[in-house]
Amino acid sequence: MSEYPKLIIDLNKLRHNIKSLKELCDKQNIALAGVIKGFTGYKEAALIYDEVGVPIIASARLEQLKPLVGLVKAKLMTIRIPMLSEVSDVINITDISLNSEIEVLKALDKEAKKQNKIHDVILMKDLGDLREGFWSDDEIIEASLLVENKLSNLHLLGIGTNLGCYGSVVATKEKLEELVTITEKIEQKIGRKIEYISGGATSSLPRVFNGDMPPRINMLRVGEGIILPKSLHDTWECDTSFMKDDVFTLKTEVIEVKTKPSHPVGEIYVDAFGNKPTYKDIGNRKRALVALGKVDYAFIDSLILKEEGSFIVGASSDHTIIDITDAKRDIEVGDIIEFELSYATLVYITNSNNINKVFID
Ligand SMILES: *Cc1c(COP(=O)(O)O)cnc(C)c1O
Repeated sequence: MSEYPKLIIDLNKLRHNIKSLKELCDKQNIALAGVIKGFTGYKEAALIYDEVGVPIIASARLEQLKPLVGLVKAKLMTIRIPMLSEVSDVINITDISLNSEIEVLKALDKEAKKQNKIHDVILMKDLGDLREGFWSDDEIIEASLLVENKLSNLHLLGIGTNLGCYGSVVATKEKLEELVTITEKIEQKIGRKIEYISGGATSSLPRVFNGDMPPRINMLRVGEGIILPKSLHDTWECDTSFMKDDVFTLKTEVIEVKTKPSHPVGEIYVDAFGNKPTYKDIGNRKRALVALGKVDYAFIDSLILKEEGSFIVGASSDHTIIDITDAKRDIEVGDIIEFELSYATLVYITNSNNINKVFID
């Protein structure tokens, strides 16, 4: 295994971000569920969430939660609706699951009985983003009554929603008030208060920053906003100046430096992925090749080069081409070029076996 490409994970900066966001949420009585799927659940990083004291650690992938069982004080929560085929692992590994199917709820109850556990569930209401969740009020009320009165090894812990994932629907104050309204309807039917109203993910954080979160929303499930606060700033104009942007830094090694034409020479047909790109002729350019490619990060447009005066030209599976004609330093073979990551590239990079992961603290 070579030293590069190397992903530096700064645990101290991560700790700072979790702490400062948790303080902000605490002030508004919001439980912060730390979502670790954005960095493939690296245990070293996941443990920082627990150290800071977030009440819940969450992922869509059970294999990322499993190593934490018995190691953390936080409750473990699966945030993807369980597959029927993983129900026994859901009960075994997690304390809380998000749900939207009666059949799955019944299976969870049965399995919890078998494992002699009470399992917490949050029922999901789809408010229009069109991914997971009960669609009609009647359906979620019926499911709530079932959990409350019939499924004795399940506890109805909360009502939740997800926004801004498929349908790009904004988590406005009005949308989140809809969630409170339906929860209060359910409370009337079951005759008690429900502990949690889980009002979404990073895309709901602007309500916290703006101070206009409906008061009863008391849980958010946050991944990106902690690990890449820049996105909160760039997308939602939140003031994240108190957070650290560079929790993750990608370092790659230069394997070729040559001056070549900017337009391919020969008959143009398709690239390595079968696309027919167009090329602009801007004359001869000095370029550096670095040893990583689309296999590692998938989305070249979401890769952010940290090399003054340079820009990314293109990539294939295992190579990335960088124009260094106007670079501020003299770049040679063996030199290191750094990148900043976005959510899209981070999920791939952290999943890649070709990356040397280095934690600093
Ligand atoms: C991924 C996910 C989250 C976290 O999303 P971020 O945008 O990273 O904060 C929260 N809830 C659910 C259901 C998710 O799938």
